[in-house]
Amino acid sequence: MSTHYHVASVTSPSVKGMTTMPDDFDFSTHYSVAGREGIAFYAIDFATTSTEESWTFIGSDDDDPEDEANYVYDEPEEVPDLTRVRLVMVGDDHVWTVDVDDCEPIADDAYCPECGQIGCRAYA
Ligand SMILES: [Zn+2]
Repeated sequence: MSTHYHVASVTSPSVKGMTTMPDDFDFSTHYSVAGREGIAFYAIDFATTSTEESWTFIGSDDDDPEDEANYVYDEPEEVPDLTRVRLVMVGDDHVWTVDVDDCEPIADDAYCPECGQIGCRAYA
């Protein structure tokens, strides 16, 4: 038997109700990417996506649906896409955009820091 002390739940009430969100993606570790196995990647940041432009009808005295003045235009916005991350191969500089689901964290000693190959023992 062991006793667990939940100190964090006492001092950090904000932790309560937290769930594992996609933005928990760990940018401090290296990854193996599905379809490109054998090479270690490091993650830079989340990919971005554009929101749709839209016209929202606000109306006026005449409520003319043909009158542009009766609409508010929302520009497309660049927002983080939390389902995809941008990664770079170790030893390369090409940026890949990959689904978070396709990224598998790997141990720091699982890849070669020189050539990036997983399993290369040149520097082990
Ligand atoms: Zn190597």
